[in-house]
Amino acid sequence: MKYLKRYYNRILAWLPVLLLCIMGGICLFPVRQICAQELNPMPDNVPALPLPEAQLVVPEAVPVISETEVMPDVPATEPVPVIIVLDPGHGGEGDEGAMYENFVEKEMNLVLANAMKTELEKYEGVTVYLTRTGDQNLTLAQRSEYAKSVNADMMFCLHFNTSGSHTLFGTECWISAFGEEYSKGRSFAEIEMQMLEELGLYSRGIKTRIGDKGTDYYGIIRTASELDLTCVLIEHCHIDHQNDRSFCEGREQWEAFGRLDATAVAKYFHLKSDILGVDYSDYPIPAVPVPDYVVSPDTTPPDVCIIDFVSQDMTNGEVAIQLSAADYDSGMLYYAYSYDGGETFSDLQPWNDKSQDTITFTMQVPPHILPQIMVKGYNGYDLATESNIISLPSMDYKTEEELAEEQAQKAAEESAAFDDLPADEEASPIETPAKKSVEVRRVSVTEENEPVSVGYFLSVCLVCALFVLGMALSAILILRSKKKRRRRKRKKS
Ligand SMILES: [Zn+2]
Repeated sequence: MKYLKRYYNRILAWLPVLLLCIMGGICLFPVRQICAQELNPMPDNVPALPLPEAQLVVPEAVPVISETEVMPDVPATEPVPVIIVLDPGHGGEGDEGAMYENFVEKEMNLVLANAMKTELEKYEGVTVYLTRTGDQNLTLAQRSEYAKSVNADMMFCLHFNTSGSHTLFGTECWISAFGEEYSKGRSFAEIEMQMLEELGLYSRGIKTRIGDKGTDYYGIIRTASELDLTCVLIEHCHIDHQNDRSFCEGREQWEAFGRLDATAVAKYFHLKSDILGVDYSDYPIPAVPVPDYVVSPDTTPPDVCIIDFVSQDMTNGEVAIQLSAADYDSGMLYYAYSYDGGETFSDLQPWNDKSQDTITFTMQVPPHILPQIMVKGYNGYDLATESNIISLPSMDYKTEEELAEEQAQKAAEESAAFDDLPADEEASPIETPAKKSVEVRRVSVTEENEPVSVGYFLSVCLVCALFVLGMALSAILILRSKKKRRRRKRKKS
């Protein structure tokens, strides 16, 4: 108790300071919170962050384990001497191959082939030959004969593609339609196509084509087949389509294709490389039985192509359509839609999930027309079947251009009205709607700003004043208690 009494005055002196600090804290806390909220308002519709684009990564040379059977005739352990012939397509004067913008196919094919050779030579027990090492003219028969003369195990014809209408996109492999050449060609092509798809390219499939005489249509495949040589023609991608363009823009990418092709060959022939640190000795290659018939190409368009109406958004012109299409020979490849009964069609759309016969898609239909919805379904050989037509009511929504035009017009009217306002607004007897809207805007602007600036300022002032007052009060009390103590001391003495 004595102890408490001794310090009673001191405690009394510091008490206001303590109380003021607590008060100040209480006052400042909500103010800061409110201000923080008002200064950084969260928008109602926070746009979703754009997802990073899927990066296209060249698959690393790591064996992929699939459930396919291992070809029984290829030993799994010992490296077999393998002879590979690479045929860079076209060459020489008058045979440039596909030409588009600055691209000259014969040059691209040669760059690709050289990179493929360099990569393949990193594997053990493999010899690689090129049918041409420069810009030479060679007939298709000469290429095949050369490959046969060096005892090639397989020949790979390396190409880039274009389409007459510049509408096709994707990657494809062409193989012989006959016997062992078909079996071996298809087995390799499945590995190759899987890798090209993993790279991000759209698969147009592994195909055969028969000419008028009932033999393989492509000369290089036909002449090789006649010499019992398996030949796979790889059309890496379409240089004239934006979907494929990012894969073949320059030399580095052509070389990347070469390395990818080399890896596919290494997998197929169970090659091993200490330099690359990979061993495909146990790579399970797809088993393709040797056909005892001609594996003919698909010559008929898709068997089914039917559309059903799903929904129609009258406010923005979006129409959802269910498309059921099937081709029992070569599968579905693309579809294109029309809203004018087949007069015009969209770009070709990829049939992304080839295991599905039915897909639903959304199309944009312009306003103020009577939509006649129709779809064309394309099979693996680019043959199309047209669907039924669905008639829909007109959608009279405003297009983005119309909305923008309307807004611009409104803004122009408002600014004109603002300019016309007399200097003394109160003297103006007539209030035009335009003027009103300007005023409303001004009021709303001040209303928005006031709570932030004035409220905050007043609160800070109040807290500061209280703090100063408290300091002064406590100083007075401390001085008083000191004086009292001195007086007591004097009395005692
Ligand atoms: Zn070509």
